[in-house]
Amino acid sequence: MTAIDRSQGRVARDTADADASMVPETATGNRALQLEEPLIFEQGTPGRIGVDLPPVPAATNRLGGTARKGAIGLPDLAEPQVVRHFVRLSQKNYSIDSGLFPLGSCTMKYNPRLNEKVARMPGFADLHPLQPVSTIQGALGVMAELSDWLKRLTGMAEITLAPAAGAHGELAGLMAIRAAHVARGDARRRVIVPDSAHGTNPASAVLCGYTVESIPGTADGRVDVATLKAALGPDVAAVMLTNPNTCGLFERDVRAIADAVHEVGAYFYGDGANFNAIVGRVKPAELGFDCMHINLHKTFSTPHGGGGPGSGPVVFAESLAHVAPGPRIQTADDGSYTVDAVPGGGAVGRLKAFFGQMGMFTRALAYMKSLGRDGLHTASGDAVLAANYLMVRLSEEMSPAFDGPAMHECLFDDSFLDGTGVSTLDFAKAMIDEGFHPMTMYFPLVVHGAMLIEPTETESKQALDQLVDALLSLARRAKAGEAAMFHAAPRYAPRRRLDETLAARKPILRWTPPVDTRAAAE
Ligand SMILES: *Cc1c(COP(=O)(O)O)cnc(C)c1O
Repeated sequence: MTAIDRSQGRVARDTADADASMVPETATGNRALQLEEPLIFEQGTPGRIGVDLPPVPAATNRLGGTARKGAIGLPDLAEPQVVRHFVRLSQKNYSIDSGLFPLGSCTMKYNPRLNEKVARMPGFADLHPLQPVSTIQGALGVMAELSDWLKRLTGMAEITLAPAAGAHGELAGLMAIRAAHVARGDARRRVIVPDSAHGTNPASAVLCGYTVESIPGTADGRVDVATLKAALGPDVAAVMLTNPNTCGLFERDVRAIADAVHEVGAYFYGDGANFNAIVGRVKPAELGFDCMHINLHKTFSTPHGGGGPGSGPVVFAESLAHVAPGPRIQTADDGSYTVDAVPGGGAVGRLKAFFGQMGMFTRALAYMKSLGRDGLHTASGDAVLAANYLMVRLSEEMSPAFDGPAMHECLFDDSFLDGTGVSTLDFAKAMIDEGFHPMTMYFPLVVHGAMLIEPTETESKQALDQLVDALLSLARRAKAGEAAMFHAAPRYAPRRRLDETLAARKPILRWTPPVDTRAAAE
């Protein structure tokens, strides 16, 4: 427990207090230069002021009845208090700029500064989406060029840049699929999703009005074609497949699956979140997908995970091009760009205000153009190499979930922890003390106590070796009977174990002032 009582504003309490004796206590609650402080609301002193401005001259209030009547309730603070508070908070936030971020399925790669510089160029950053089209030709040019790159890399015919993230892209793709079925007078009900899929796949299908059928995979972590074929029928609208899948494995039967899906008149949806493993090497259109979302914030290095908004463009094969939602950028004969607001007769309609996440488009295009086609090819190869390097070295102490080489991420189960009293969660918490952000845990659901590690191509061999050495050492300590150390972890983090379920279910997001002490004294 920290020295400062912070009963207000906490989402959950430390549950590792029992082992507090293992942590050196300090009088202040600070740990080295990691500073503890009350909430900013608790730091305020009535009447303290950060600026010295002349009184506002009397003026007629033109807000009518909408003018604020009482105080807004913000704390009264001096400027250094405000600056220090927010800088300290920012320093508690781990990010890809701080170090390796091995979250599987998330492709947390380094975001090159060049992309940031381009996105901040005033010609892009200061545009308003309601400006006349003749004044935003450069921005439309970026969107047109990005569209062209993404269509070429995927072999697809049409694209919409609008969706705000991968999950939104899934919804866009499924809405297009539904529109295509409806246009044929064929209202189908079911969508088939393998049980290793990301949770957004079934969620998007349900949101789009479908019932979801989950099909189990094979012992080697892939879709069982026979099971899938048995589940197919004339009421199936779509099959959603992630390739490489969330076990980090390439679905070798993807062409046979595509044929079976098309045979019953269904569409084949590709979850392209793992595109980083194959970009520049495989065109998803040639695998038989009718549409696929691309996470610009994963494969194409735009920041995410607290660092910025996502962006989930969807590419469409010829089979679905007629229902692709807009807005779409068209090139006129004179080379200028125009905006086709509702193409395809508006079967799907508009998915997002304006054009989508413009800042992400400029970042992604800057990334693609700075790497070039050959650079993207090298990046996907290096991503796969890095994952396999980890897989081989970590297998010395940890248990891979499946045999054989992986694609861009490597998956372990918790069988190497059998009988140690250490769980996947304990193991991940101990990684924090060693200075590593944990990997993805307990996903995919098909693997017991799953640990999914995706190093990406942007980590050096030294960085990978440091991670491996830390994980091997932890695995050996677990096997050597040091369960208590794991249960007490993290010991050096600003907060220790939180009740994560309570924090997720009942977050306390509102600060309520304590009973006014002055009023109570009267
Ligand atoms: C990240 C991810 C998604 C969802 O993408 P968001 O951009 O987070 O909405 C879907 N499928 C897989 C496999 C993913 O890794």
